[in-house]
Amino acid sequence: MSAAEFDLIARIRARAGVRDDVALGIGDDAALLQPPPGRQLVVATDTLNRGVHFGEGAAAADIGWKSLAVNLSDLAAMGAEPAWCTLSLSLPTQADNAAFVDAFLDGFLDLAAQHRVALVGGDTTRGPLSVCVTVLGLVAPGAALRRDAAQPGDEIWVTGTLGDAAAALALDGIAPYREQAVRRCAGDPATDAARLHERLARPTPRVAAGRSLAGLASAGIDVSDGLLADLGHVCAASQVAARIELALLPVSPALAAAAEGAARWQLQAAGGDDYELCFTAVPERRTAIERALAEAAVPGCRIGRIEAGRGVRAFAPDGTPWRPARTGYEHFAG
Ligand code: ADP
Ligand code: MG
Repeated sequence: MSAAEFDLIARIRARAGVRDDVALGIGDDAALLQPPPGRQLVVATDTLNRGVHFGEGAAAADIGWKSLAVNLSDLAAMGAEPAWCTLSLSLPTQADNAAFVDAFLDGFLDLAAQHRVALVGGDTTRGPLSVCVTVLGLVAPGAALRRDAAQPGDEIWVTGTLGDAAAALALDGIAPYREQAVRRCAGDPATDAARLHERLARPTPRVAAGRSLAGLASAGIDVSDGLLADLGHVCAASQVAARIELALLPVSPALAAAAEGAARWQLQAAGGDDYELCFTAVPERRTAIERALAEAAVPGCRIGRIEAGRGVRAFAPDGTPWRPARTGYEHFAG
């Protein structure tokens, strides 16, 4: 280990959060964690690479936030309570790595503190800028929201709003989003474009909603690749079909001002980077789910139904089937 690497790890260690159930954190060959008895350990990992998951000009604090957010979103989609995380950083040789790590930690540890997640270890190496985070959480046995348990007759729900992040990519001229008709804005251009970019740079993982839905929803997934693609994973795993009503897809005021009609559906149904939860539940649970979402202070709405069959179909308000312009979604059936 070089002095520079030691310095970077020391910076990280000095700021990592603490929890009573961390018997040994950063500094040894491995961390020692004490999960409570009777709960299942939930583990997820996700990597962000420069040029693929974030642009050259992305702010270090935003990269830090998002690298943890996308991982917490996976735990949320399982209905788990996050507890610990590790962070593997690959950094190019550059003079200002210390400044980069400090700013990165500002975003990363801000979100970690909000969810009481302790950073317990990781790795620091030289290479193209890349961030790999592993999160560990807890769930009651049998209560996790899996992809393989949706049933015909279930209602399909989604939290928050869809399409904002994709609209931000379209405004930035990022392929293939730039082909989308997105107005810089109707009302207040600066504010609305900033809102869309905020959703892209700093997604909010729906941790409280996921936890409150555990044991209540039949199946769940987080929307990272686009609603139709991700719901397609649920349908494939559960061996069912889904019917989505495009008119019911939740839209933010900023996106409502920026896009309409099929251009908006494309962003909402096939955009991605939303980090909302999509889940299914029997209609009898409707009131219980509305209560659970209200307790989590997260909006949610019903957007369609699970049916017998295979694949995901989306319908326009006039009842005609609709397919996104971009295809290639493995589980999309028209
Ligand atoms: P080893 O050679 O045993 O893998 P390292 O020098 O890689 O040890 O790491 C020393 C300690 O610092 C370990 O506890 C490791 O988990 C921690 N660590 C290294 N890099 C990071 C990082 N980016 N974030 C958090 N902890 C880190
Ligand atoms: Mg190591």
